[in-house]
Amino acid sequence: MKIGVIAIQGNVAEHVSALERTLAERDCHGEVITIKRSGLVPGCDAIVLPGGESTTLARLMQRGGIAAEIRHAIKSGVPILGTCAGLILLAKENLLGAMDIEVKRNAFGGQCDSFEASIDITGVGAAFPAVFIRAPAIVRCGSEASVLARFGGYVVAAQQDSMLALAFHPEIVSDTRVHHYFLEMI
Ligand code: GLN
Repeated sequence: MKIGVIAIQGNVAEHVSALERTLAERDCHGEVITIKRSGLVPGCDAIVLPGGESTTLARLMQRGGIAAEIRHAIKSGVPILGTCAGLILLAKENLLGAMDIEVKRNAFGGQCDSFEASIDITGVGAAFPAVFIRAPAIVRCGSEASVLARFGGYVVAAQQDSMLALAFHPEIVSDTRVHHYFLEMI
């Protein structure tokens, strides 16, 4: 199993180490690679889109040809995990245009308003320590997507087929339940 983490911006190292930890916990052999250029996405069994700044990420992914490769992977059913800015990119009106969700950027405020909250995530478990950093929120979840978690009046986790979108950052906490859930999807 080869998992590619898009390594343009954001918590790349944290995602790599959370995935490696989770693979070890499952006694599962897998390789986690970082992707900075086109040509690597087609060889991956799953893709992670970390957070960062969605406009910058979108521009660089479009220009470098990575976006087209991810759109193709999504069409073939390759599992994708998008966290924070990664969630924004997956939305219908954004770069990848793949999920039936409408997103509001910085829904909980700016950097200083970052916080951690304990949330229940369908399929993942109860009391997950969710860290929100300039987090977006899903303001409309269409019929093709299903709600996995809500917080503060918003949807903060959703799934559509093999796409998992989270407004928070599971890669920076020691709890690996979200990454286990994602590995189950592969
Ligand atoms: N606020 C950022 C954006 O709109 C996302 C923040 C993050 O990924 N931590 O792109």
